[in-house]
Amino acid sequence: MMNLGNLPTTAEMKALDAAHHLHPFTDTAGLNKKGARVITRGKGVYLWDSDGKKILDGMAGLWCVNMGHGRQEIIEAVRRQMTDLAYYNTFFQTTHPPAIALAESLASITPSHINRAFFTGSGSESNDTVVRMVRHFWACQGKPEKQIFISRRNAYHGSTMAGASLGGMAAMHAQGGIPIPGIAHIDQPYWYGEGGDMSPAEFGLARARQLEEAIDRLGENNVAAFIAEPVQGAGGVIIPPDTYWPEISRICRERDILLVADEVINGFGRLGTWFGSDHYGLRPDLMSTAKGLSSGYLPIGAVLVSDRIVEVLEQKGGEFFHGYTYSGHPACCAAAVENLRLMREENVLGHVRTVAGPYLQEKWKGLAEHPLVGEARMLGLVGAIELTPNKATRAPFKNPGEVGLITRDFSFENGLVMRSVWDRMIISPPLVITRGEIDELIEKAWRTLDMAHDKIRGMGLC
Ligand code: PMP
Repeated sequence: MMNLGNLPTTAEMKALDAAHHLHPFTDTAGLNKKGARVITRGKGVYLWDSDGKKILDGMAGLWCVNMGHGRQEIIEAVRRQMTDLAYYNTFFQTTHPPAIALAESLASITPSHINRAFFTGSGSESNDTVVRMVRHFWACQGKPEKQIFISRRNAYHGSTMAGASLGGMAAMHAQGGIPIPGIAHIDQPYWYGEGGDMSPAEFGLARARQLEEAIDRLGENNVAAFIAEPVQGAGGVIIPPDTYWPEISRICRERDILLVADEVINGFGRLGTWFGSDHYGLRPDLMSTAKGLSSGYLPIGAVLVSDRIVEVLEQKGGEFFHGYTYSGHPACCAAAVENLRLMREENVLGHVRTVAGPYLQEKWKGLAEHPLVGEARMLGLVGAIELTPNKATRAPFKNPGEVGLITRDFSFENGLVMRSVWDRMIISPPLVITRGEIDELIEKAWRTLDMAHDKIRGMGLC
């Protein structure tokens, strides 16, 4: 049996992993041919693999390790909580100090009309909770036909049945009998890829107005809510044109439908504000969260619910037949409480807004000068570069995703985690990244682009 106190060799771990571990979002046969990279340690913005290679974690894990790896304060808070009470539930009219403290802490950073939290174990569970809660909310008011969620193509809202259905990933919908009924999709505000000859401003308005058209087509009486990420993350860091969110807000205000902000990536400082909704001046009825809530140290999410919804559920809802064994898990809540305390104490939002954000944005946007890059965009500390064989026309590569994977492999080789989404490279580093670490990230990104460019030229791809 493998002993975690005395690790076997890298080759042995790869072999055991291939024999017994099924990875998420992975082509198992393809992975097992080369074996998974084994990550053994993290500190600050860095990771180390089992061969001792040091890697700058440009993705903060999976967009979640906002306070960086190895923070002793969070580890100690979890240790203390586990010593007192490692587990108890929040069903059966019980609660415990870390759940109370986290709910209060969240209410102090959410917009003033949002004061309650429903705890979950992940972003997917948050969105599944949203679907059931919102449909129940309308049913309580005698409108059970208001069922339909409008979402967007290429959105990502999770991997559970409802989460993946809300998401707009065609490849996910092709597997496992989804989408579930009552989900409709409109197009995304992705100007670089879909804007054609329109200006970004015109395009933003056109895409927002698809929401109004969808409500008209489906019937306002049948539409429960519109759900969206303020900045789309997994779809490729899609930052909407400035005209988009004001128009969406207008439509939601004028129509009798709820606005749900999926803050799983945007929340907890990614854009330099507590929530992406704060950055865009949105007034969502519900916000789904997870990831940065605990900086990923332990799995926890929360649906943050506005007073309007809570009032109806309290007065007319009766029992809400929904909850998870790990809703408000004490150790996870303790990690999140400490994480939020640290974020406040270290003024991490200020660091993103005035130090790391502007510095990285300027350097990242400079990558647009590279012959392989069609656009470089970034907001707060989340960004993307679009790889193209032709900068002038923004043309895609013939075999989508191939060049992205080549570039991703060079990036790892150069000691930088950049993720590829088809032929886009994306980053979302820990929010505590320093200027010196940003210089290193950019230097590695340039080197990676140069190496990828040489290789794909050699392959005749550009
Ligand atoms: N919503 C968004 C916007 C996400 O990015 C993700 C995860 N990447 C999820 C939901 C699902 O979260 P989880 O993986 O924790 O279930």
